[in-house]
Amino acid sequence: MSGNALSSVASQTKKRPAQEDSDQASASKIAKTHPFFNKQLQPSSPAEQKFQWLKPLGGTGSCLHGVNLSPKASKAVAAFDLDGTVIKSDFVKKISVPQWEWWRSGVPAKLQEVHESGYSIVIISNQGVKPQVLKAWKHKIPLIADALPTVPFRIFAATSKDNYRKPMIGMWSELERIFAEEGVEIDKSASFFVGDAAGRQYPGRKADFASTDRKWAINVGLPFYTPEEYFLGLPPHTNFTLPGFNASSLPKLPHVMPSSSPLLPDPLKQEVVLFVGYPCLGKSSFFRHHFRPADYVHVNQDILKTRDKCVKHTQEALENGQSCVIDNTNRNASTRKYYIDLAKRLKVPIRCFLFSGSIELAWHNNLYRAYNLPPSVSSKEPSRDIVPYTAFSGFRGAYEEPRLDEGFSEIKTVNWVFEGSEDEKKYWSMWLQIDGK
Ligand SMILES: [Mg+2]
Repeated sequence: MSGNALSSVASQTKKRPAQEDSDQASASKIAKTHPFFNKQLQPSSPAEQKFQWLKPLGGTGSCLHGVNLSPKASKAVAAFDLDGTVIKSDFVKKISVPQWEWWRSGVPAKLQEVHESGYSIVIISNQGVKPQVLKAWKHKIPLIADALPTVPFRIFAATSKDNYRKPMIGMWSELERIFAEEGVEIDKSASFFVGDAAGRQYPGRKADFASTDRKWAINVGLPFYTPEEYFLGLPPHTNFTLPGFNASSLPKLPHVMPSSSPLLPDPLKQEVVLFVGYPCLGKSSFFRHHFRPADYVHVNQDILKTRDKCVKHTQEALENGQSCVIDNTNRNASTRKYYIDLAKRLKVPIRCFLFSGSIELAWHNNLYRAYNLPPSVSSKEPSRDIVPYTAFSGFRGAYEEPRLDEGFSEIKTVNWVFEGSEDEKKYWSMWLQIDGK
């Protein structure tokens, strides 16, 4: 049944352009004879269109997008998670015949009521599942829509680990963009989101499997309800936790420690500075702010590609009388030894700058840079690829804390300090990580 519904939508979509061309052609002919005939050529009312999948959104098409009937933009948005909120969670992921059931029998009537009160209904769903399962899922949505024949809604589904996946706000940003095109600015205080991944704890019972929905509502800035609160009118469940990294949990520490010695030698003299730390802890930006102005040579393996080239580049610079910063992760003593031995041989002092942030912070920064920059920044800068998790877990697995007896004259610790505008800080401070990751 769903297959038929889908293929009829697909054939309509395919045929439409040709149909329009011939309609226009005959319309222009008829118009010359009598304008009355134009009326008969109007397309059928859009309100009669049933559910259809539209063009997926995003650079890789990872955000599925569909509409039931013809949903209108409204300042007030009623947003709902799907699984475990509108319909029962389907944990049997392998069934090929789409099956579904309302979360509670009162859900469709409530959705009808919400629609009639003037809200735009939007479903916001994470569907990071295997392609076969996703295919079956795509067939299920028109069936749910058929059971809501007078409730227009829009649905977004994030199918990859990217900027669309809750708790990241990509699906909301798309909604804002689409509504803005219709001249509607959403009033968040008059809108809300309902989801079951709320981090609820229960004495003697299993907690919610995640808190992703509550985090998403916090990120977007929407009032949040659980399905029990919204559909059943139960009182708010106040015993919940939001696990995982959040920027507000970072202790306030001085940027560079100790501060008793200067950041750069005073007066300047030739040296090697070796950075140590996870990717995405601001090492390159620290170089640009503090060492480039003093003409230190930048040695970076992402740019030079191999360690041999990094060592060679360092040697040439030192023989040329220049100072160098080795801007790599330099995770263990054996990696650092290449540069320490070189510095010793050329009788140049070497210091270590340890970027102390945790793997959670580094991964958070990675997600922020790749997926969650504010539009004011992402519209101007080239997009950055996500650094794979293995680069972080690999560092953690092989890490040895740097020690003076490796040959350093000093070890300084650089604590993470966010540098950027208020707008950037707002986006950086959001919940970005998926629970349990
Ligand atoms: Mg859910």
